[in-house]
Amino acid sequence: MLASFVQGAWWTPADETGATVVRDASTGAEITRVSSRGIDLAGALEHARTAGQRSLGELTFPQRALLLKQFAQVLAARKSELYELAKSAGATVRDSMVDVDGGIGVLFTYSSKGRRELPAGQVYLDGPAETLAKDGSFLGRHIYTRLPGVAVQINAFNFPTWGPLEKFAPALLAGVPTLIKPATPTAHLTEAWVRMLVESGLVPDGALQLVSGALPGVFELLRLGDVVAFTGSASTAQALRAQTPEGVRFMSETDSINASVLGPDAVPGTATFDAFVRQLMVELTAKSGQKCTAIRRAIVPVESMDAVAEALQTALAAKVVVGDPHADGVTMGPVVSLAQRDEVMRGVRKLVDAGGRMLVGSTAAPEVVRADGTVGAAPDGAFVAPILVGFGADAPDVVHEVEAFGPVSALVGYSGLDEAAELVNRGGGSLVTSVATDDPVVATALLARIAAYNGRVLFLDRADARTSTGHGSPVPHLVHGGPGRAGGGEELGGIRAVLHFMQRTAVQGSPDMLTALTGVWHPGAAVASGGEHPFRKPLSRLRVGDRFASAAREVTLDDIETFAHFTGDTFYAHMDEQAAAANPFFPGRVAHGYLLVSFAAGLFVDPAPGPVLANYGLENLRFITPVSPGDSIRVELTAKQITPRETDDYGEVRWDAVIRNQNDDLVAAYDVLTLVAKQEAASRSPQR
Ligand code: NAP
Repeated sequence: MLASFVQGAWWTPADETGATVVRDASTGAEITRVSSRGIDLAGALEHARTAGQRSLGELTFPQRALLLKQFAQVLAARKSELYELAKSAGATVRDSMVDVDGGIGVLFTYSSKGRRELPAGQVYLDGPAETLAKDGSFLGRHIYTRLPGVAVQINAFNFPTWGPLEKFAPALLAGVPTLIKPATPTAHLTEAWVRMLVESGLVPDGALQLVSGALPGVFELLRLGDVVAFTGSASTAQALRAQTPEGVRFMSETDSINASVLGPDAVPGTATFDAFVRQLMVELTAKSGQKCTAIRRAIVPVESMDAVAEALQTALAAKVVVGDPHADGVTMGPVVSLAQRDEVMRGVRKLVDAGGRMLVGSTAAPEVVRADGTVGAAPDGAFVAPILVGFGADAPDVVHEVEAFGPVSALVGYSGLDEAAELVNRGGGSLVTSVATDDPVVATALLARIAAYNGRVLFLDRADARTSTGHGSPVPHLVHGGPGRAGGGEELGGIRAVLHFMQRTAVQGSPDMLTALTGVWHPGAAVASGGEHPFRKPLSRLRVGDRFASAAREVTLDDIETFAHFTGDTFYAHMDEQAAAANPFFPGRVAHGYLLVSFAAGLFVDPAPGPVLANYGLENLRFITPVSPGDSIRVELTAKQITPRETDDYGEVRWDAVIRNQNDDLVAAYDVLTLVAKQEAASRSPQR
């Protein structure tokens, strides 16, 4: 019996009543039995909401991000065990690289993004502060804080590692505990990596639980502050959404009749045509076509249909060996189960009954390479050969509606870009469409018509054919999901995914209050000025609001001339009185903006070696009032945000810099970014 991990312990049912038998996809041999009968679901959810919320609440964003990296390292060190186990579910090593390495990659990416893009605390700021009172004493700002409940994930069978991990990583980063429910046919693969993480001893109490088997009555136990993240078929999503209590977020990623369009310019013989066919072959065969993002409809110019079918046939014959993934040389395994094979065949029959022509493959059980290397029939294996079914542009609705979730695609002919776009959109909302074209006019025309029907659009051309991550590969940096039938949800997409597990709140208050609530200094809030120069303070002593206010410095015509000739920036606004005065923005010759920023650095810098290690940039720089020869400037520099780096002995300090002239007019405003040591020089390690 497959175990679950709930309330900090491994659990198995008392007996096997009602358990589902999971079998090897190639041989039918029993692997495990899955049941959650008698599990304390209410207790598991409460454990997440109490212990899980508590343990994750003790960590900042960067600390959680670091944990993700450690999880990734644990799994990376043991991934060959996962590859081996996945063979029983029909996955070749290449398939496992998509699922297992893909999942580990998500952990690494979220770790790195979390440490670079999230602040040091637990509150995420969305957009700038808005001034709501003329004198600046009342501000508003959008913030995100974590949801107080549990993230219940319900997963599809085809990605037992990547699927749960791409939800778990952003939830953990947000600070929300997760309860994973894997799909039964591959639950043992999810159990395996969850066990590895639990064994590592790194998982905070209650942050990760696993229920192997069904979740009876779970929706009645959910409440405001909880989230359901579902991946699976559209029909299951619909049924579960209807049961979701009010106030509980329901995110869904469902099946999708994705398209790949061959542009009219990418005729046979071109590199882009070849890239289109190669991609079609990969999508048809990777994970035996059991990918939500696989190409279900190849939409090609009518005159190229035969050439595409022929080229695909040739490529499959050269590259694809169907069989038991335990045997050497097999490049495509079976689908996950006999039930799934029958489901795929029902889909193929619907396509054929609707007038489709079998262009590649057949519905007959294929001869395959068996585990012992012999070739022949495998009646207990769920094998399906790659299948391409052809249609004209008048393809019936069934082509755009039926997802045969296996190595099956339809080839649809089009005449004209309008027709191609219309065919794409008949999918009713897709996760992804790819377009193979070298012509930006074709790409622009198609994108304008299809973008709103797709979560992602990939343009394949000569330049990216070799480097493209591929039609079917969601990347953690970009949104995965799609409108309409694809579920209407969004996952991944960098930090966007973390925010799905957080609540946005508009917070209003005084500058001091917003500074206290967010940990970020807001203009108008208290400052500490006049004491020790803040550049002398390591992070251990520096506080937001620490300010340095400089003396004034006059800017002379000689300064402007010197700067112009030294840098080569002799733009007329600095050099030619008449031409400058004719410009609508300047009273006459004015100082270079970069001269002012350089003078400001000269005014605020504290030159001796100290805790400030480097200046690594400026952000949000705006020049507001021009500075004429004879004007003077002064600068105020205020510590705005302090972000210690978890694994280094320094951190980042963002300084609010404001330059004003002799009349107190605002000349320039920007953020200065510096790296600052955590401790005084004497207590730092000698390498630094
Ligand atoms: P499925 O039959 O819809 O099942 C999905 C999940 O829902 C499974 O974990 C299943 O558990 C669970 N489930 C079913 N009924 C439930 C209920 N009443 N209460 C709670 N959970 C319930 O889909 P599948 O066959 O596993 O996966 C294949 C489908 O997923 C394909 O259509 C594919 O396109 C889609 N998919 C979409 C994405 C995406 O990101 N958009 C990714 C991968 C797959 P049991 O297994 O225990 O029944």
